[in-house]
Amino acid sequence: MNILIVNAGSSSLKYQVIDIATEQCLVSGGIDCIGQEKSTVSHDLMGTPKKEYEATYKFDNHTQALNVVFELLVSKDFGVFTDISEIDAVGHRVLHTGVDFTGSVLINDETIAIMEKNIPLGPLHMPANIDCIKSCAKLLPGVPMVAVFDTAFHLTMPKHAYMYAIPYEDYEKYQVRRYGFHGTSHKYVTGVAMELLGGENKRIINCHLGNGSSISAVKDGKCQDTSMGLTPLEGLVMGTRSGDIDPACLEYLMDKKGFDIHQMLNYLNKESGFKGVSGVGSDGREVQAAAENGNERAQLVLEMSAYRVKKYIGAYTAALGGVDCIVFTGGIGENSYDTRERVLRGLEYLGLDMDWDKNKNCPRKQNVEISKPSSKVKVFVLPTNEELVIARETRDLI
Ligand code: ADP
Repeated sequence: MNILIVNAGSSSLKYQVIDIATEQCLVSGGIDCIGQEKSTVSHDLMGTPKKEYEATYKFDNHTQALNVVFELLVSKDFGVFTDISEIDAVGHRVLHTGVDFTGSVLINDETIAIMEKNIPLGPLHMPANIDCIKSCAKLLPGVPMVAVFDTAFHLTMPKHAYMYAIPYEDYEKYQVRRYGFHGTSHKYVTGVAMELLGGENKRIINCHLGNGSSISAVKDGKCQDTSMGLTPLEGLVMGTRSGDIDPACLEYLMDKKGFDIHQMLNYLNKESGFKGVSGVGSDGREVQAAAENGNERAQLVLEMSAYRVKKYIGAYTAALGGVDCIVFTGGIGENSYDTRERVLRGLEYLGLDMDWDKNKNCPRKQNVEISKPSSKVKVFVLPTNEELVIARETRDLI
């Protein structure tokens, strides 16, 4: 069974075709800068040798981008199908469950209407998700589609963890609460860690560190807390997001800089984090390189972000009543030994005994234990696979 995975961001689109019988990825691609002057389409046909296609287009919207994806999927040189009817199902990554869905759902008119109602909870991503759902329904009439939500894994959080301490009636009226994001990634690495650990009731802290970063506290496979909130702005220091900040800073800065609330949130979402503090940029590798070349603000933001992760690990260890395993995943978590070392140094008091050489020479794209075998708390580097989670849930629902 061939499952097309569609993962739309506010101005991007990632896709894969997965043969669910073998769980192999047949095609993987990405499109950036949708709605801007120039979009790059990268399309990789897996196999040996891998065939790579890259070209520049201009797309006004996600529907236009998807049309090109469908052309590529059946193209002579880079296609994986002779006919588009060989797609058996589509799995869409959708940002927000809201309070309406408790897990993945089959897509139909009724579930689309609920997603449309939830647009205010994710005003940048939800319209792109819904556009892609509607375009695929037109391009593939009758093919079953499933929505897999980024917030769903976190729905097991207890109420005392997901509530904000605002007047209760506003929580009830407007559903203002912590939802959390990166759920498919946290779910995937939780599954791998549980298999590696064996046994029951394991307490796992997952650090997903990438352009966007979040951390989750998981007990016996169920999420107990996570660092992102109503939106992905809360929590860790990220590529361009500030993460946690005193909300009173908003009024102070709006006054000083003459911002309205939209400008203020744009500043916290797009101009802060690695980019804002370092002045170098949002990309982890660039900031790392600048830090190694002596740039003090780059060094500072790396220290700030590692310190924030360390604080959350402490908090979540307390919340879970101890910790059995810490997981690193995401572009930075998987690839930056320096970040892992900054986070983990000093956590020996929890029962960590690290193999620092193994951390430094950790092979890429493999599940690796970087703590010593004798360590009471295991530390794993686990490559995430959000698309596979979406494919499995799509198969299970159809
Ligand atoms: P997204 O949140 O967009 O899914 P990823 O999880 O793919 O992001 O992570 C991308 C980030 O990981 C980029 O900022 C990239 O520079 C960073 N990254 C990748 N490798 C390294 C490395 N070796 N050191 C530091 N940062 C890295």
